[in-house]
Amino acid sequence: MRLVADLHVHSIASGHAYSTILEIAAAARDKGLLAVAVTDHGPTMPGGPHVYHFSNMATLPRDICGVRVLHGVEANILNKKGKIDLGYRYLKDLDIVLAGFHDPYEGGGVTENTDAMIAAMENPYVDFIVHPGNPRYPVDAEAIVKASIELGVPIEVNNASFGDSREGSIGPCSTIARLVADEDGRIIISSDAHFAYKVGEFGEAMRLVSECGIAPDQILNTSLEAVMAYLESRHNKRPSPNEQAFDDEKRR
Ligand SMILES: [Zn+2]
Ligand SMILES: [Zn+2]
Repeated sequence: MRLVADLHVHSIASGHAYSTILEIAAAARDKGLLAVAVTDHGPTMPGGPHVYHFSNMATLPRDICGVRVLHGVEANILNKKGKIDLGYRYLKDLDIVLAGFHDPYEGGGVTENTDAMIAAMENPYVDFIVHPGNPRYPVDAEAIVKASIELGVPIEVNNASFGDSREGSIGPCSTIARLVADEDGRIIISSDAHFAYKVGEFGEAMRLVSECGIAPDQILNTSLEAVMAYLESRHNKRPSPNEQAFDDEKRR
């Protein structure tokens, strides 16, 4: 099985990552990837990018070093209503929107965390939920997998969770992965690279998902066509500007 796109990578714009987009694209090319998504943290992350980083992404070439570059964000889920830290006017022009829990989240118990994550999945701008197995923010795994399938929003298995970050993730991530396998859900596997050498590093996550019985056809980023078709289908569900059903105010 080969993964053709790394859909979760940080550049120096995140404030605590160490490579430029040019270095990231070159690394993706060297790893044989067809596409990479630049998904810097949302603006409430300490040291994170200003919103202008996101509104100016159109200036990036679509093809860098022969690799397709997707414009994205890893937004912070802020509260149990699932509010995220980038508004509609910025999200609407991005190719890919990840959302997950980080320091800016107000925190809560399993019920609050689960409600927050499901509410974020219900946001029509959110394409993927990242590292849902982070033990720092425990969730009801069954409810999350069920919502992921019902809402058609795949969850991520994050390779960095088994290395540099989020110690203690193997147990919760295995529970989630087994449920995804049993229920025929969809996932992405990503590196969450904060340095170019880590782009396209998927080994630990691949091992975990195969041990948990997830089949290759459940992993969206085994095919660039599948990734792009999925993102297009999500974009088609986004509210049009004048019927902006999804209102940031509602989630305050
Ligand atoms: Zn993250
Ligand atoms: Zn990340």
